Amino acid sequence: MKFATKAIHAGQQADPATGAIMTPIYQTSTYVQEAPGKHKGYEYSRTGNPTRRALEHNIAALESANYGLCFGSGLAAIDAVLKTLRPGDEVVSGNDIYGGTYRLFTQVFSHYGIVFRFVDMQDHDAVRNAINGHTKLLWVETPTNPMLQIIDIRQIAMIAREAGAMLCVDNTFASPALQRPLELGADVVMHSATKYLGGHSDVVMGALAIKDAELAAKLAFIQNASGAVCGPMDAFLVLRGTKTLHLRMKAHCENAEKVARFLGSHASVGSVRWPGLPGHPGHELAKSQMDGFGGMVTFTLKDDRQEAAIKVLSGTHLFSLAESLGGVESLIGHPASMTHASIPRQERWKVGLMDSTIRLSVGIEDADDLIEDLAKALDRK
Ligand SMILES: *Cc1c(COP(=O)(O)O)cnc(C)c1O
Repeated sequence: MKFATKAIHAGQQADPATGAIMTPIYQTSTYVQEAPGKHKGYEYSRTGNPTRRALEHNIAALESANYGLCFGSGLAAIDAVLKTLRPGDEVVSGNDIYGGTYRLFTQVFSHYGIVFRFVDMQDHDAVRNAINGHTKLLWVETPTNPMLQIIDIRQIAMIAREAGAMLCVDNTFASPALQRPLELGADVVMHSATKYLGGHSDVVMGALAIKDAELAAKLAFIQNASGAVCGPMDAFLVLRGTKTLHLRMKAHCENAEKVARFLGSHASVGSVRWPGLPGHPGHELAKSQMDGFGGMVTFTLKDDRQEAAIKVLSGTHLFSLAESLGGVESLIGHPASMTHASIPRQERWKVGLMDSTIRLSVGIEDADDLIEDLAKALDRK
């Protein structure tokens, strides 16, 4: 089955009780048993819920996985992956990652004896040098947030395999419509379903997709044992979202390209990052592992003072100033003071995240209107 068909049908059949074509919201905590232990496959909604189960199958199909697991947030999904580790185990992670992931690594799991090493994942020697006999997990985000670097998933998967470590890819920025890391050798895919999978800025959720049965069973055990599950209403909303994922991603990519080209031609803009621009250092690699370049565009002003960025941020009307990304509406943000405030300034500078760097989540409105909005904000005196 092709992607668009899977998006609409995978994991879903008409409701056996009523024929309802849409998976009902099974808003229930428990299930009546005919006799002790004799039930219809569901006992308690932390362990399993039919609405959540439908979404888990749907996301697994979209990621070319065999198993899907949904959580109360993206961070809860990352938390579950880290709980497969033991004190003394080490993680090698990219150094340009979501601020909340960095915070969970360095301020929560480091207290439980897990060691984190952050490296530029574009530098494969640096990745190899950071690996030792204790390394159990490689953590990759690509395209990275917010600098949109492209990490070579095939190469990192090979390095992980040589080291006997697991590779988890945070696929939030690309979505499975544009990139399927399991097909490239990753062991686990993680999503903040809050973003493109949900797609309508109305739900917070996380997901994991896994090929291997043993690893999936381990993570499903943690999902139930730790209990950070999502509710059935949220599962319903994301199921509605994934049905149009392929169409939305196409529109996000087209609009992002137009916006990136406009910014590149504007006199106040110093540099533009979008993997689809031929000058982007990861352009060829993106072409080889992605089916499109995504809806995120990052740019830095020639005037690298925070005040210059604030002036632009407060001058847009269609682009709303907000954290998050991946919804149908366009958002504008200032990573240094918003999403990435928990990352030290020196670390930010290392990846090119400057004081005037602005991140756009380009929505699916008309591109002409979006460009006019940005032009007005940039030209504001
Ligand atoms: C938002 C985000 C997360 C965290 O997900 P939540 O749903 O907010 O918990 C992780 N990684 C990336 C790339 C994100 O954008």
